[in-house]
Amino acid sequence: MPKPDRAGRSPLLETRALTREFSGFRAVSDVDLAVPEGEVHALVGPNGAGKTTLFNMLTGFLTPTSGQILFGGHDITGKQPETIAHLGVARSFQITSLFEEMSLLEHLELALASTTSLTTRFWKSPRSLDQFRARGMELLDEVGLADRSAQRAGTLAYGQKRALELAIALALDPRLLLLDEPTAGMGVEDIDRTIELVKAIAVDRTVIFVDHNMHVVGSLADRVTVLQAGSVLATGTYDEVRADERVISAYLGAAHD
Ligand code: ADP
Ligand code: MG
Repeated sequence: MPKPDRAGRSPLLETRALTREFSGFRAVSDVDLAVPEGEVHALVGPNGAGKTTLFNMLTGFLTPTSGQILFGGHDITGKQPETIAHLGVARSFQITSLFEEMSLLEHLELALASTTSLTTRFWKSPRSLDQFRARGMELLDEVGLADRSAQRAGTLAYGQKRALELAIALALDPRLLLLDEPTAGMGVEDIDRTIELVKAIAVDRTVIFVDHNMHVVGSLADRVTVLQAGSVLATGTYDEVRADERVISAYLGAAHD
C-alpha cells in the first residue's frame, strides 16, 4: 500500500526507487515521488535531468528498469499506455499530433470517441460523432477556444494550438494530468494565459508539469521536485526549494555548461 500522508490519505501517484537505464546509463535513478490528490506539482531540473524519461515511465511509454509506480492504489509499473490512460493518467500531446485540416471540434469529438468502445465502429456513420459535440464544446470552452470550434487547427496561433492539446488531454477526464513544458516557446502573454488556464484546470484535478520558467513554477506549483542527473535533489514548496543550497549550486553549475 502507498504511504499515507499526514492527513492519512494515500498519494494519488507514488514512485518508489524508480529507475530507468539506457545501455547502463541511469537517466532516472531511484526516484521517490509522492503526489497527493489535488496537488499541482512541478518537476524542474537542467536539460538531461531525466524529466521526460520520468514522464514516459508514468504514462507507460517507457518500461522502468527497476522500481515501482503506484497510481490510485494500482501498481501500474510497466503497464501499457492505453491501460494507464484508461485508469486516468493523461498527458498533453505535442502539436505534431494535431491534424491541420480538421476543425477544433472534430479534434475533440475524435478524442472523446477514442475513450469509448465506439472507436472501432464510429467510422461507419459520420453522424455518430454528433453525440460528442456538446461535451466537445464544453472542453473547448474550458480552454477558451469555443468561439473557434469550426476553425481548422492549422489556422491557430501557437498558444492556441497548445490550448487545443490541453482540451484533447482533458477529453480523457483524467485524475492526473501531465504537462511537459506547457509554456515552451511562448511569449509573455501566452505564458500568462497558460498559467491561468492550468490554474482553472487544476481546481478539480491533480497536475504534474515540467517547466523551465521559474515564474510559471512559482505561480502554479504547490510543491516542486528538483531533478539533477536522474536523482531527486530537493522537494518542497517553491520557496523552500529555491532557498536550498544544493539547488542553487546545481542551477549555477548548469548555467556554466
Ligand atoms: P530532460 O527531459 O530532463 O531534459 P531526458 O529525460 O530527456 O531529460 O533525458 C535524460 C537523459 O537520458 C539524457 O542524458 C538523455 O540523453 C538520456 N536519454 C533520454 N532518452 C534516451 C534514449 N531513448 N536513449 C538513450 N538515452 C536517452
Ligand atoms: Mg525533457
